[in-house]
Amino acid sequence: MTLSFDVQLSDRARTAAERDQILAAPGFGQHFTDHMISIDFTEELGWHNARLEPYGPLTLDPATSVFHYAQELFEGLKAYRQSNGSIVAFRPYANAARFNKSCARMAMPEVPEETFVEALELLVQTDRDWVPTTEGHSLYLRPFIIATQVGLGVNYPSKQYRFMVIASPAASYFAGGIKPVSVWLSTEYTRAAPGGTGAAKCGGNYAAAFVAQRQAVEQGCDQVVWLDSNEHRYVEEMGGMNLFFVFGNKLMTPSLTGTLLPGITRDSILNLAAELGLEAEEGRLSIEEWQAGCESGELTEVFACGTAAVVTPVGTVKGADRAWVVGDGTPGEVTMRVREELLGIQYGTRPDHHSWVHKIA
Ligand SMILES: *Cc1c(COP(=O)(O)O)cnc(C)c1O
Repeated sequence: MTLSFDVQLSDRARTAAERDQILAAPGFGQHFTDHMISIDFTEELGWHNARLEPYGPLTLDPATSVFHYAQELFEGLKAYRQSNGSIVAFRPYANAARFNKSCARMAMPEVPEETFVEALELLVQTDRDWVPTTEGHSLYLRPFIIATQVGLGVNYPSKQYRFMVIASPAASYFAGGIKPVSVWLSTEYTRAAPGGTGAAKCGGNYAAAFVAQRQAVEQGCDQVVWLDSNEHRYVEEMGGMNLFFVFGNKLMTPSLTGTLLPGITRDSILNLAAELGLEAEEGRLSIEEWQAGCESGELTEVFACGTAAVVTPVGTVKGADRAWVVGDGTPGEVTMRVREELLGIQYGTRPDHHSWVHKIA
């Protein structure tokens, strides 16, 4: 059974002129469209009260569970305006499936995949004028779920939830050209440990990561690289992105051991490699191997990948007792080839052999 959505259009929607002014320089995650999606869950009714309504603040009791025990998780994907004018999302069913895996880990009710995708479609169709036409820009979609039961009891998960989707126009991550990032190897902090929530896209993982990200910035680096929790030796992820290591014609990315977030961009690159004339494998790499590989020239490029920035070259690496450069510190040829291919599929300038692109409008 699919839910039907009540539609309540905003009478405070921004004018075309106001919208154009925002779209001229949207930044990332700072401006939101005129509407949002909400669906409620109770044990008695299941998912119900699905609606599209004007974007605006929520009123929640201060004792609402999410504020205290962080039972919350989210997704992130983009709607792109393609060269032929249509609006598409990239692999939204993969986000729906990952969302439900995260829900299972966080003891939250799953949202039917069809409902998840319909919610995205309805919001994007309603606010379609917010999908940027500028090359490289997109509409970032943020589905999330929060525990809404009121009370401070900690023995059981919440019995009530709200699923929401909001949307935010996004500029290209690299407005001034592709710039490789510098990374800090975090040996003091751990993002995720076996049995923990590392594979779930929950806000708590980010809350626990900010102190390490701040430390990276204090060390003069752009991003933190997470290592395994046991030895602080094996590479896992970079901030909110997955990592790929390039050995000439071969890509290697850390295996999904349960402590890594299974990125959809990561999965897409593994699947695209052969078409790009590359081999690809999942494996394990220590920071010693990373440094030695760069010094011998065997490890030619490193890049991070995720929905927000697509593909980002890593230029320099720094740790407590070591520092080195990847290649010559500039974006590598393989990195740029992977990046161009993914962007080409998303914006409709390259063939979509995998049927990853989902037409919305
Ligand atoms: C969302 C996320 C990623 C990237 O996932 P994509 O589906 O490629 O956007 C990687 N690592 C972490 C920790 C994340 O939260």
